[in-house]
Amino acid sequence: MTDPRAQLIATAQAMTVAGLNQGTAGNLSVRSGDGFFITPTGMAYGRLIPDDIPFVNLDGSWEGERKPSSEWRFHRDLYAARPQAGAVLHAHSPYATSLACLRRDIPPFHYMIARFGGDTVRCAAYATFGSQELSDAALAAMADRNACLLANHGLLLHGRDLDQALALGIELEELCGQYWRACQLGEPVLLSGEEMAVVLKKFQSYGQQG
Ligand code: 13P
Ligand code: ZN
Repeated sequence: MTDPRAQLIATAQAMTVAGLNQGTAGNLSVRSGDGFFITPTGMAYGRLIPDDIPFVNLDGSWEGERKPSSEWRFHRDLYAARPQAGAVLHAHSPYATSLACLRRDIPPFHYMIARFGGDTVRCAAYATFGSQELSDAALAAMADRNACLLANHGLLLHGRDLDQALALGIELEELCGQYWRACQLGEPVLLSGEEMAVVLKKFQSYGQQG
């Protein structure tokens, strides 16, 4: 599949199958040249066709038949600030969103938190959806991280490509579910900074690296 718009649609549909999104919540983009393709605002993913996918330039101008996602600003700001970001995923997945309503960072209750770049996944300050203020809050919460929660809203992350972004989205939602369950039983025992530093180092050479 070479058309990045078709790949974007397939991955957006996979988000719904994976339980990350329902209806028109969330959005997804993939970098291409000097900008990115992004899901159109207010359209469910089920019947999207490539011509429904707008292209947004890094200056915020856009081309296409449909208006881009209302959250194009945080997608744009992540691509502009992070050369390693090839795809950006935003979801209102159930557990991540529930935790985001508590406006709490997810602590190192499980070593896999390190997949997101550090020993917490932070929760960004609240701001209205689609605003530049929300993008600024998200990027601040993502300092040295590839993901954050958005207060009273959902989750946001970037991956090197669409497949990795989807995998990270599924992983983060799973971790939020595990944290929520562990909290039902008591207070989770947290890993120390030293223990997490070992894992962070180990992740640099984990997996197929390529
Ligand atoms: P869009 O349909 O504009 O992408 O908005 C969905 C959303 O999740 C807003 O935060
Ligand atoms: Zn949203």
